[in-house]
Amino acid sequence: MTKQADVVVIGGGITGTAVLHELAKYNLRAILVEQEPELAAGTTKANSAVLHAGFDAPEGSIKARMNVEGNKLYHDLKDELDLQIRWSGSFVVAMDDEQMAVLRDLLKRGQDNGVPGLEIWDGDAVRKSEPNVSKDIKGALWAPTAGICWPFGLALAFAENAVVNGAEILRECTVTDIIVEQGAVKSVETDQGSIETKYVINAAGIHADEISHLAGDNSFAIHPRKGEYILFDKTAQKNLVYSPIFPTPTKMGKGILVCATTHGNVFVGPNAQDMNDDEKDNTAVTISGMDETLEKARRLVPNIPVGAAITEFAGVRAVSSTGDFILGPSKITKGLIQAAGIQSPGLTSAPAIAKYLTDAIVREMGAVKKSDYKKGRPAQPCFRMLTNADQRALIAKDSRYGRVICRCETVTEGEIVDAIHRPVGARTVDGVKRRTRAGMGRCQGGFCGPRVIQILSRELHIPITKVRKEMKKSYMFYDKETQSGGKA
Ligand SMILES: Cc1cc2nc3c(=O)[nH]c(=O)nc-3n(C[C@H](O)[C@H](O)[C@H](O)COP(=O)(O)OP(=O)(O)OC[C@H]3O[C@@H](n4cnc5c(N)ncnc54)[C@H](O)[C@@H]3O)c2cc1C
Repeated sequence: MTKQADVVVIGGGITGTAVLHELAKYNLRAILVEQEPELAAGTTKANSAVLHAGFDAPEGSIKARMNVEGNKLYHDLKDELDLQIRWSGSFVVAMDDEQMAVLRDLLKRGQDNGVPGLEIWDGDAVRKSEPNVSKDIKGALWAPTAGICWPFGLALAFAENAVVNGAEILRECTVTDIIVEQGAVKSVETDQGSIETKYVINAAGIHADEISHLAGDNSFAIHPRKGEYILFDKTAQKNLVYSPIFPTPTKMGKGILVCATTHGNVFVGPNAQDMNDDEKDNTAVTISGMDETLEKARRLVPNIPVGAAITEFAGVRAVSSTGDFILGPSKITKGLIQAAGIQSPGLTSAPAIAKYLTDAIVREMGAVKKSDYKKGRPAQPCFRMLTNADQRALIAKDSRYGRVICRCETVTEGEIVDAIHRPVGARTVDGVKRRTRAGMGRCQGGFCGPRVIQILSRELHIPITKVRKEMKKSYMFYDKETQSGGKA
């Protein structure tokens, strides 16, 4: 395969998909390449899912600017792209006078960064709003513009809108080299062939330094810092917290929070563990990490429903050697545009990063906006949210909506089939899970897993032995013939 593009985006996380969504508004040939079968398979799938207000990053930093702008942009994008966001506000709590002083610094920093509505509350006011927080909390910084979101859903929405508007996404396509001639990008080489292009946007997450090296720019490094989480069943402790509850931050980050998901579960985490540079993809959870996470979360909210833990997971922060996001044209290689070192608040900043980078490329290329640009994306049916009358009407139209596959989350066969055939369809078991919630409930796919595998096999016209959990080689079954698969 040899393809031509005006811009190649490397990486299908929140940064890459947000950039593709922005590029797709212009008369440009844009291609996104992602090495895994599903989008958002890197850090974007495992984080705290908070859309931060913007008081954490130092005034004048790129992070601060992108955070505040990104948060504002999501307020508009929520309805346009049907994003799963709840504008919950957030609390950073203090336990003593020393920590109260830190909150006052954060308030000042937030105001300098342009964050609206910040207030310091006393402990009783916090407990009135969040009855389950510790009686030891002395006060909190309240940020009304913060929110919680479903990160995979955001990335998928950006990607689907981009595809509807003519952008191309190549999945299971690993970048192996970038050809540079006379100091300028010529092509991106992948294991699916070559893509000739003048512009490359490097949104490769924790691997962004390696991509940059391929194009001859060694000006920064990315170091991995892992964070572990515990997720609880949503039936166990409904309404434990409404807003994210953060401790007072330290040098290592924002600390271990207690938070609800947009789907009603509670989770706690993340801790912060610096890893070796050869452990960038190590997302294993540890017993010590779980102990630390629980212990610190209990200081904020004592009655964490420990017995209702349904899963643990970890995400890896892309800590840059510059201490800030690395955004914009490389000083060494013409046509290489960096979106690197995108650690927290990267999720929040993504729409602002996308606009900033796209504006620069569009100016340079003289590209114009598409006259037939389509807002939004095809609606995604969600059976459990419908009224009885609407459910009956849907079943009458397509009987597959009458077959419940996931009992914990009430997900029907119709929704799973839709998820597979959407503009950016599910290719794996976890792809179905993240689009529909089949397998997200208390039994974690114990009941519906085999049925989801059968449906994937049928709809994708592949043998069962070729169905994967999530990553490229994570086959669900051992294939006797090819003697492959069977392990993640
Ligand atoms: C513990 C933790 C908590 C966080 N909490 C928050 C939060 O609450 N709010 C917030 O705003 N931010 C938060 N963040 C930060 C946020 O999650 C990240 O900034 C964001 O997800 C980064 O997205 P990305 O697209 O840049 O990278 P990724 O999501 O990692 O995407 C990069 C993609 O590039 C692909 N790729 C890599 N190499 C290649 C190659 N050679 N060829 C093709 N594809 C390739 C990968 O497969 C991956 O899909 C948190 C991060 C962590 C780790």
